[in-house]
Amino acid sequence: MDENRASTALDELITALPDGTVVTDPDIVAAYRQDRAADPNAGTALAVVRPRSTEEVQTTLRWASTHRIAVIPRGMGTGLSGGATALDGAIVLSTEKMRDITVDPRTRTAVAQPGLLNAEVKKAAAEHGLWYPPDPSSFEICSIGGNIATNAGGLCCVKYGVTTDYVLGLQVVLADGTAVRLGGPRLKDVAGLSLTKLFVGSEGTLGVITEVTLKLLPAQHSACTVVATFGSVADAANAVVAITSRIRPSMLEFMDAAAINAVEDKLRMGLDRTAAAMILAASDERGPAGAQDAEFMVDVLNSHGAKEVFSTTDPDEGEAFVAARRYAIPAVEAKGSLLLEDVGVPLPQLAELVSGIEAIAAERDLLISVIAHAGDGNTHPLIVYDPADADMTARAHRAFGEIMELAVRLGGTITGEHGVGRLKRPWLASQLGPEAMELNRRIKQALDPLGILNPGAAI
Ligand SMILES: Cc1cc2nc3c(=O)[nH]c(=O)nc-3n(C[C@H](O)[C@H](O)[C@H](O)COP(=O)(O)OP(=O)(O)OC[C@H]3O[C@@H](n4cnc5c(N)ncnc54)[C@H](O)[C@@H]3O)c2cc1C
Repeated sequence: MDENRASTALDELITALPDGTVVTDPDIVAAYRQDRAADPNAGTALAVVRPRSTEEVQTTLRWASTHRIAVIPRGMGTGLSGGATALDGAIVLSTEKMRDITVDPRTRTAVAQPGLLNAEVKKAAAEHGLWYPPDPSSFEICSIGGNIATNAGGLCCVKYGVTTDYVLGLQVVLADGTAVRLGGPRLKDVAGLSLTKLFVGSEGTLGVITEVTLKLLPAQHSACTVVATFGSVADAANAVVAITSRIRPSMLEFMDAAAINAVEDKLRMGLDRTAAAMILAASDERGPAGAQDAEFMVDVLNSHGAKEVFSTTDPDEGEAFVAARRYAIPAVEAKGSLLLEDVGVPLPQLAELVSGIEAIAAERDLLISVIAHAGDGNTHPLIVYDPADADMTARAHRAFGEIMELAVRLGGTITGEHGVGRLKRPWLASQLGPEAMELNRRIKQALDPLGILNPGAAI
């Protein structure tokens, strides 16, 4: 669309929405170009639209369909695969002003608008003695709508499941502006196709989520935390498999030497800089069951060659280690730009995946730090590079692809929780195969025939 037509179309939208909803200030629009994946190919949107209601989202999408203008849905832009990257001439639709929540303790549900932070949902639930479990490390900075659109995981998901396990219902605005209600505050409901689940993890390509009904649990019991260091990453990975084959820990995380040292550089909390790997595990079972779990994990970690094992029931001590794990991405990011991977494998292949990543790092002469939601077999290799160094950047991108190819060879996935976005799209077909790819495309075509919603992302 030429500049004049785009500007006339935009005037129409500005008039149709309340004052201040459509933002065209170039500095503000520029701030919405990229998400945390920092895709260098990001374009510049025509405008940022910040609706406050489902009706305003409908108005925006009707307008976009009429004018064939692409819409990039955006939560808080913490995504790590470029799913919210702006395109030239598109609209970025940010849900940041959609922030209502009500909690119903009788049904143990919450109804929230998408722009609320995950941490704010947890806080609202906690005020009623309830708990919203999914806990991405970014929980204080990411939106609940973004969590649903990516089917986010996190630290406690090894026991409590991922975002989709807590989504009972959605309101979604389709590309043509139709608003649809799916599911609701019912624990069992099998009427019709499972469309609520279709939108979870759809990365803004099928509709804009404008309201969500979430299942809540009774508040979590405080945990016993066990921390172990290892001289070998393979030993640590094998210990993970041995733990999960017998019990359900409420957390089972992994950090390699580079992550341990990067965190220690920043937090100075006395982590063992000489360790090749660290395992952080917890059990939130009540009473003696929790103590038994902790004892079992200590035994397994010791019998798999741990250098040192430490166990505590002090919540503050446990939380300090969890905070260290959560801080790993920003800490490694301080070493250089990151290409952030998210590959996962069936648990028995975890050791092979981690050793394979070490081999790729050596072959490509790169620092690749591995952190992992190890109990889920979901790793985050963090490839560190200097974008000013063309050769290093090329090697980093090769390693990025090689790690995904390795995971697929091991029967795994190119993404466990961050989504395909724009950065992983070239590898999607290698995991799904032609039939499943075609089915994905047919669903996208049926719901968004004009290709308005997040073109170039995910599918
Ligand atoms: C330090 C750090 C740690 C992280 N740790 C984790 C982790 O442990 N687990 C994990 O899963 N992720 C993690 N992430 C990644 C990220 O926080 C999640 O993917 C999160 O769910 C994205 O939420 P957001 O609001 O920032 O979404 P955005 O980045 O704004 O968007 C993500 C995707 O969702 C779409 N989208 C957003 N809102 C809507 C909506 N209302 N309707 C339709 N589509 C929408 C966008 O188009 C895009 O495709 C981490 C990120 C950082 C920076």
